[in-house]
Amino acid sequence: MKQRAAPASQARDPAMKKTAPWPMIRPPATIAILGGGQLGSMLAQAAGQMGYRTLCVSANEADPAGRWSDHHLIADPGDANVISRIAQDVQVITVETESIEPSALAAAESIGARVAPSSHVQTIVRDRRLEKGFLAANDLAVGAFRVVESAAQMQQACEELLADGATEILAKTARGGYDGKGQRWIRTPSQADAAWQALGQVPLVVEAKVDFVSEMSVIVARSPDGGRSVLPVFGNEHRHGILFQTRMPAAVSESTARAAMDLARRAADHLKVVGLLAVEMFVLADGRVLVNEMAARPHNSGHVTLRAASRSQFEMHIAAICGLPLPEVEILRPAVMTNVLGDLWSVESAPALTKVGEHRSPDWATVLADGRATLHLYGKTPRPGRKMGHLIHTGHTIEEALVSANAAFGRLTTPS
Ligand code: AMP
Repeated sequence: MKQRAAPASQARDPAMKKTAPWPMIRPPATIAILGGGQLGSMLAQAAGQMGYRTLCVSANEADPAGRWSDHHLIADPGDANVISRIAQDVQVITVETESIEPSALAAAESIGARVAPSSHVQTIVRDRRLEKGFLAANDLAVGAFRVVESAAQMQQACEELLADGATEILAKTARGGYDGKGQRWIRTPSQADAAWQALGQVPLVVEAKVDFVSEMSVIVARSPDGGRSVLPVFGNEHRHGILFQTRMPAAVSESTARAAMDLARRAADHLKVVGLLAVEMFVLADGRVLVNEMAARPHNSGHVTLRAASRSQFEMHIAAICGLPLPEVEILRPAVMTNVLGDLWSVESAPALTKVGEHRSPDWATVLADGRATLHLYGKTPRPGRKMGHLIHTGHTIEEALVSANAAFGRLTTPS
């Protein structure tokens, strides 16, 4: 049984009590990265290039972030004892996933460690109930939603939202869902109970369907002294709840981009986040913007900056948590990032598979022959739906990059 969480406005912010200044953390200081996924691995690469040392804490030896870090501690990164121990040996602690327990971060904060994001921020961004409550309480535009913690509340929430004009409802588990997991669409009140059961009878946020014309994300880097830099606006396309493609720049008007950047900036300031805050948003037909969700870490859409911007999101995160200056991030050339999912390794969907040693692998040569493409693979074991890597295509124009990206994706997925 999950504990009922306090509303965001009542959640305690231990970082608020800390008065000690956050000095500039200079290389070769050591940065602890909690979590072992690809975001951690790209953070470790950026940190290494900037002269820092890294200590990755993750559960498995094979985790990608461990392979790219100077040190790899194989332990539970959410264990307060483990994190209190490593806090003595590092100058700053960061996370690469919402799954890290805030209590582990709080334990490190309580002995004076610098932790970014703070346990307070981590508490909010990993629970959709607190996240939506935070957004609504701070006047950051969100669609209609209800918090649901029982079958009766679920029934009532669905009836109310549908009566208020929602065409459909999306029920999402408050915690643990990502990439479209832990979600169910509901079209009539009679489907409410089945969805409640199917999602495991756990706390939910149920949302009215937003009839968006497009999706976008804005990433803000914020330093301990409140200085910030907003990265260029990204345009996102999701398929089956998973990010498929990101384009930079996004195809939105200047006023929509300004509104989105302002929303992201205000969210980062209200949270007093240190490091990156990624804000996913919906763009409505009239140009208005609604926040979908937030992440206090690098974001999949931001990978496009690796090859096409003056700073990558990973460099900006390291700079922010170390209190370095945060320059404006400029687009160097238009670019498109396309995710590479584990489905491509299955024979059915990728007839172009070639045999490499013992393993079958997509035929990357068909993609890389085009000089516009770079391939980033994370070194994970393929599974359908799993993010295995991404492609970045650049072009003189965004249209050129899109044509190359879609042709490459087509070659990987279409029978020859
Ligand atoms: P999420 O897990 O909240 O990031 O949702 C994944 C994707 O599902 C989003 O990027 C949208 O494409 C879609 N989605 C989520 N919430 C809604 C909503 N309220 N209305 C319409 N589509 C949604």
